[in-house]
Amino acid sequence: MPELPEVEVTRRALAPFVEGERVQAVVLRDRRLRWPVPARLASVLKGQRIERLERRGKYLLWRFAHGTLISHLGMSGSWRVHLGIAPPAGMHDHVDIIVGEREPRMLRLTDPRRFGALLWHPSRSGDVERHPLLSRLGLEPFDPRFDAEHVYRGTRGRRAAIKQVLLSGDIVVGVGNIYASESLFRAAIDPRLAAHRMSRERCVRLVNAVRAVLTEAIEVGGSTIRDFVGADGTEGYFMLEAFVYGREAHPCRVCKTTIRRIVQGQRATYFCPRCQTKGGQR
Ligand SMILES: [Zn+2]
Repeated sequence: MPELPEVEVTRRALAPFVEGERVQAVVLRDRRLRWPVPARLASVLKGQRIERLERRGKYLLWRFAHGTLISHLGMSGSWRVHLGIAPPAGMHDHVDIIVGEREPRMLRLTDPRRFGALLWHPSRSGDVERHPLLSRLGLEPFDPRFDAEHVYRGTRGRRAAIKQVLLSGDIVVGVGNIYASESLFRAAIDPRLAAHRMSRERCVRLVNAVRAVLTEAIEVGGSTIRDFVGADGTEGYFMLEAFVYGREAHPCRVCKTTIRRIVQGQRATYFCPRCQTKGGQR
């Protein structure tokens, strides 16, 4: 499943091909994504200039003067750039956005499981940040307002485990299941800790760990940027070298203790019972 780093790498890969370009055509082959793709999308976008490609959480925001195209990769989606116009390579190539008058480039959305989204938000409906999909998102992990005090305040009165509070995305976005386990390991915090027991010191460690883990993941993904051009629809998801995620029964890379897997809210959590408990302060 694409997480924030995949979406950010997608944004960086696509931006040079789309920013400042006018949409020549939109081809909708299958509108049945998580919500139906607007049937009139082609007429809404044709001839309009893409001003910027931005990201909010796991949403890509294609900014036009008259509105914003909101896209989400769902469980299995990917965008690829084709230089020139190519026929669909497979049955999951649902949408093409063609830009560039002299040198056409095709942005192709492939989504086998069709949990992704492509929605239009006209400027006259107000700021896209107030769209129901975006309005309740937590802070961006690289927003300077995401600091220890923000985490401390956001966890008061919450008895759920810190791992689940992180996943809820209302304190900070982009910490999906993999990065929650990895961040808590780096911060030496037990994922089962009740959120309201987060000390200020733990909050400092968590903020630093979240930023470090996401930065590394984006850097790992950055090496795949060339794969976004002319690729054959491979998902291209990537991962940093995990300390704990997916490493059940393997020795901790730091202390050699056996990594444990537990289930919290139906999601797997991996942690080191030594590094992440009181006895094992790093
Ligand atoms: Zn350990």
